[in-house]
Amino acid sequence: MQPIEKCRACEGKKLKLFFDFGIQPLANSLLKNPNEFEKSYPLSLSWCEDCNLVQLNHTADPKELFSEYVWVTGTSSTAKMYSQVFCSEVLKRSEANENRYILEVASNDGTFLQPFLNKGFNVLGIDPAQNIVRIANASGMPTICGFFGRGLAREIIDKHGYPQIVIARNVLPHVANLHDFIEGLSLCMDDDSVLALEIHYAKVILEELHYDSIYHEHLCYFSLKSVEKLLNAFSLFVYDIAESPISGGSIVLYAKKVKVREEETVQRYRDIENVGMTNELSSWQSFANRAFQHRQQLLNIIDEEVKSHRHIVGYGASARSSTLLNFCGIDTGQISVIADQSHLKHKRFTPGTCIPIEAPDDVMNSKPDTVFIMAWNFLEEIALILKNDYRFKGRLIIPFPHPPKIMTIEEVLDGYYKR
Ligand SMILES: [Zn+2]
Repeated sequence: MQPIEKCRACEGKKLKLFFDFGIQPLANSLLKNPNEFEKSYPLSLSWCEDCNLVQLNHTADPKELFSEYVWVTGTSSTAKMYSQVFCSEVLKRSEANENRYILEVASNDGTFLQPFLNKGFNVLGIDPAQNIVRIANASGMPTICGFFGRGLAREIIDKHGYPQIVIARNVLPHVANLHDFIEGLSLCMDDDSVLALEIHYAKVILEELHYDSIYHEHLCYFSLKSVEKLLNAFSLFVYDIAESPISGGSIVLYAKKVKVREEETVQRYRDIENVGMTNELSSWQSFANRAFQHRQQLLNIIDEEVKSHRHIVGYGASARSSTLLNFCGIDTGQISVIADQSHLKHKRFTPGTCIPIEAPDDVMNSKPDTVFIMAWNFLEEIALILKNDYRFKGRLIIPFPHPPKIMTIEEVLDGYYKR
């Protein structure tokens, strides 16, 4: 596989490599048996000198990545709760018009369209994963199967007209052809339409050291500066920004096709990126060095548990945990099994590290001493399940945000309830 020759956003050729993870399997390609042959691809990051976008150097085939998908949004109660907040935040920023509809690109099972549907709006979802689209339609969420871009955008407006609101949550980093995708969003909008674009925020990734979010599906890691330049190139203008808890730290950008008065949040984000040096190469070089230190700290914690004969299991076989396990070289020597709530993952094995994945009931019945919270961005949700469903009183390994630590459930939930 050849590395990219130019920046995915601005097409500049001055790409500076700063972090090489080596050859890694696809993070969501769970194995059906531990001896199965698996394809692996180079995984490394570059920074564009022209637009400062942080991105992968290689593009895996999107059909291989997204046609059969194992992440179902509705399995997370955190995502379900946030979908209500997201709905009211979006409606605050758009003149609701019952004659028009709400379009979501990469709508998954429709969890985020559901609150709009409940309020009486017409909605339409689009998603490339056939298995997920079947789930969505079967539950009454109108969803088209396809990869979004100019072509599909034209078909949609021909058939349905312009939507009032276009939602694109955590999809932009997955897109290989950014120009086709952003132009598609722009084509779907008239001067009244509002775009709500949610991205895992590069500033949080940098500062909290979310190197586990780097895997083949996430081609780009956007800051306001890098995404704004790209949006402007297709006549989309950011006028407001909100925070989101998704992925451990995201932002929702609100944009229109016409320039309107910017809310003060936009300039505030530009300022904090300047002060935090979010868009500087030196910051990302130090990110890579810190990731290697983090790996050593985490391995020291796990070794200590193993030496003390504590039985460790994992919780949350997410795509992110795949990078973490492979980068740190953690396998069945340290962790015997991983619990996951999604039945689509049960009786499968983690890519590259071959750790079995089972239902939480089966894993917790093995009476672990320590639970490694791999899906740490759902920490509180998982801590509540461990406490209420399994009366678990052991230790938790929490890898992120930096530095990795060991805590009890009480310590985690104390922080949760005090908030
Ligand atoms: Zn660039």
